Amino acid sequence: MLLTITTTRTPATDLSYLLHKHPGKLQAVELSQGVAHIFYPHADDDKCTVALLLDIDPIGLVRKSGEGGPDSFTLGHYVNDRPYVASSFMSVAIARAFSTAMNGTCQKRPELVDVTMPFEVTISVLSAARGGELLIRRLFEPLGYAVTVEQYVLDDNFPEWGQSKYFTVTLKADLKLKDLLSHVYVLIPVLDNEKHYWVSQQEVEKLLQKGERWLRDHTEKEQIIKRYLRNIGGLAKNALARLTDDAPEGSAHDDGERDIAKEKLHDKRLKVVLDELVSSGSNTVVDLGCGEGKLLKMLLREKQFKKILGVDVSYRTLEKAARRLVFDEMPPKQKERIEIMQGALTYRDKRLVGFDAAAIVEVIEHLDLNRLKAFERVVFEFAKPGTVVLTTPNREYNELFETMEAGTMRHTDHRFEWTRVEFETWATDVAKRNNYSVSFKPVGDVHERVGAPTQMAIFKRKVDGNEE
Ligand code: SAH
Repeated sequence: MLLTITTTRTPATDLSYLLHKHPGKLQAVELSQGVAHIFYPHADDDKCTVALLLDIDPIGLVRKSGEGGPDSFTLGHYVNDRPYVASSFMSVAIARAFSTAMNGTCQKRPELVDVTMPFEVTISVLSAARGGELLIRRLFEPLGYAVTVEQYVLDDNFPEWGQSKYFTVTLKADLKLKDLLSHVYVLIPVLDNEKHYWVSQQEVEKLLQKGERWLRDHTEKEQIIKRYLRNIGGLAKNALARLTDDAPEGSAHDDGERDIAKEKLHDKRLKVVLDELVSSGSNTVVDLGCGEGKLLKMLLREKQFKKILGVDVSYRTLEKAARRLVFDEMPPKQKERIEIMQGALTYRDKRLVGFDAAAIVEVIEHLDLNRLKAFERVVFEFAKPGTVVLTTPNREYNELFETMEAGTMRHTDHRFEWTRVEFETWATDVAKRNNYSVSFKPVGDVHERVGAPTQMAIFKRKVDGNEE
């Protein structure tokens, strides 16, 4: 499976700076399911072509997917088109091989990143299931590509069998390389319509991130989102809503809408926490009860944070975090800055000591009240970060959630939800006992009578009686 990208803008070898790949070298990137080779079949001033050759291991593919084993053997697991067509494996390969270019960075020649160049992309075998040539055109033409399509018959010897779903596609356009890469990254799996891994919330993040410059205005936006997320209604709805930004916070009617409203509050909360961590001047931060790793991902984007640790008691949740962080596509330099590990916040743990800051976002309400004291000692007496940013729901606000029954809590796993007075009393006592100062901020829209949906405390450790 081969993808080539050619430019004729002189000097055409500028392409190699943009891709961060030397034209004289053969390079390879290990993928979990095979190897991607990167090389330049042509490289001079007038024309430069880079090729990405994907070598998928069909046996490993079956073993890794968990579909192997004596009971589940079918020939279809081993003999299929996966090694030979451009699919989501190609997207993973693009992300791994060309991550710097896709992120729009170029250290040696930063001015090249925003240069519009003439490009020609050839995808040797593209599978366009349920859509064919028409769909290929409808996805690429609105983005400005001139599209050439060659379709293959199923078998030359049996023309009556008709056409296959396989095409060789050439795309031509004048655009920035980072945009071109994000287009093919998203649209190849959209056309293939068959993803190699489980579709999860993490995929929504990837889609919105990679499509952020063009998806909002694409005429086939809905179809792209649905197929990328494999028609999983909830996720697609969520992605569409975030793209159109029309979900009101807190005033939801059905469960789907309520989920979207919750999601928006969650995003807002994490942004506020991130801002506090940034302005604290911390360089190392531990996210205690990191959940699926949304905050970790945001922390990673801030260069200020040299060491980031995520801790959670739930192994399954940490697996989701690892997937959200796209560890398999992460450049080594980023990987060095971040770690996730299993741990409980109610037991002393040396690995938590020595951080400038800790985030504890929507975690304490999951602890039994009689374990709060142990939590306090682990965090404030033993780990002792300079800054602690801690959030929890404000129970008073619950009456504004229309779909919540009176007297219930926001999540079935919550052991308690506090009023503002209850939280502030607890936090003030914790600060006093452990030589910290504390201040409070509301998060989300503040209602005159009941306050904001989330309450936040910012603790600062005092040094010799002064704030650090
Ligand atoms: N901070 C994340 C997740 C909040 S959900 C966010 O805002 O998105 C609460 C998380 O706390 C869950 O992931 C849960 O597994 C974790 N948790 C609950 N009790 C814990 C304990 N005793 N030690 C560590 N993590 C705990």
